[in-house]
Amino acid sequence: MKKSNQLRKNNQLRYKNFTAVIGLEVHIELSTKSKMFCGCSADHFGRLPNTQVCPVCLGLPGALPYVNKEALLSTLKLGLAFGAQVNNFSKFDRKHYFYPDLPKGYQISQYDIPLSQGGKIGEIRIRRIHLEEDTAKLVHQTLDGKKVSLIDFNRSGVPLVELVTEPDFNDPKDVVGFVKEVQLIARYLGISSADMEKGSMRLEANVSVAKDAKVPDYKVELKNINSFKFLEKAIVLEIARQIKLITSGEAVVQETRGYDEAKGTTFSQRTKEEAQDYRYFPEPDIPPLRFSDELVKEISRSLPELPDQVRKHLISEYGVRADYSEIILADRKRVEFFEKAAGLGREENISPTLIAELMVNKNMDKDFPEATGLIKRILELTRRQYAKANAVEKAVKKVVRENQKPVNDYGQGKVAVLGFLIGLVQKELKGKGDSKMIKDLLVVELEK
Ligand code: ADP
Ligand code: ZN
Ligand code: MG
Repeated sequence: MKKSNQLRKNNQLRYKNFTAVIGLEVHIELSTKSKMFCGCSADHFGRLPNTQVCPVCLGLPGALPYVNKEALLSTLKLGLAFGAQVNNFSKFDRKHYFYPDLPKGYQISQYDIPLSQGGKIGEIRIRRIHLEEDTAKLVHQTLDGKKVSLIDFNRSGVPLVELVTEPDFNDPKDVVGFVKEVQLIARYLGISSADMEKGSMRLEANVSVAKDAKVPDYKVELKNINSFKFLEKAIVLEIARQIKLITSGEAVVQETRGYDEAKGTTFSQRTKEEAQDYRYFPEPDIPPLRFSDELVKEISRSLPELPDQVRKHLISEYGVRADYSEIILADRKRVEFFEKAAGLGREENISPTLIAELMVNKNMDKDFPEATGLIKRILELTRRQYAKANAVEKAVKKVVRENQKPVNDYGQGKVAVLGFLIGLVQKELKGKGDSKMIKDLLVVELEK
């Protein structure tokens, strides 16, 4: 709470009395075996175009869709991970619009009763999470000197989750933090790779700027942003653009804008001054959905440990530094490795913070893919360190024993002889001693 107020304040300072208002729409492609409404493979990335298609996902007349249960369960899991309310009754609706990547003329989506509503990450409220089908992919190419657009239907009908937030963000940095957490949660749940590069996670940011606490009655939608870095940059640029317009007395046009990384600007793609009418109506070919309270409870119970629980665990139970714990928990496999190593280390008096340090700074979990390997290595290093210290200690004792004159001088306050004694110990160790260790042990011995 405090942190966000601080952010809001910083933001207002930065934006000279304007507050940025941002809401997100996040699309996540589910990694189910088959598509949303047919039996074709949903694993489409990098496949030969139009090889994973059938009458249903090609949108041929008369083809009948049937629902993928795994996709429903995955979407409910995601909602429950955010603490959302699952709707016991839900349904699919047809959303009509014309575009070459949508041959049916409508997308099967969900309108007024999404699978789940509500839920939060930190202070950001999630409005709804619904399930729909992905569209085909348009591939723009130059063929025989002509510009053509080709259609690949492998993606058509792949289950697509849409998560919509309330316009609760005021800082572009928080937006990135949020989407990273959504990505992590989807991965922990094992429902999607949520890779931005592969398009399995796609982001749209709605941006407006306010002079008071009210949410403005317009918004600009930023689309086709394919990295976290660009998302933040695009929002920052868009906020500045809008403030400039408003400050000079102009109105901001409600429109969809893209982001041009090379030019460092957002640019108009499509103005939509009136809301588009999709003529939604219930999908007549798919029976309504019912989810019992028992089923919802069962799914809740089956959820794995989520990133935030792991985060708390690493920090408060193991004492791992916050920045290190973020690096470890970014990959579920590293968390498992860490926990195993920490368990083994406990028996050998190896601290979990040392394990975390070696994993993050020295990448030691890569060198030793098994936790036991890492522990063995740490023990070996500690033993070698011991052996070294032993040798130095012996040499120090010998030098002190055999050089009474300088030792007495030191005792009488002539600390300058320390350098001379260090030299003798080095000679004893044939120059292989660590001078800091020699000095430390020598001082201990001299002050006995
Ligand atoms: P629409 O009806 O056009 O889809 P919604 O009100 O459903 O618009 O909101 C869609 C998205 O836009 C949500 O993520 C929401 O948080 C965000 N949003 C709504 N109003 C604003 C605003 N004034 N500024 C920024 N984002 C907004
Ligand atoms: Zn199909
Ligand atoms: Mg949608």
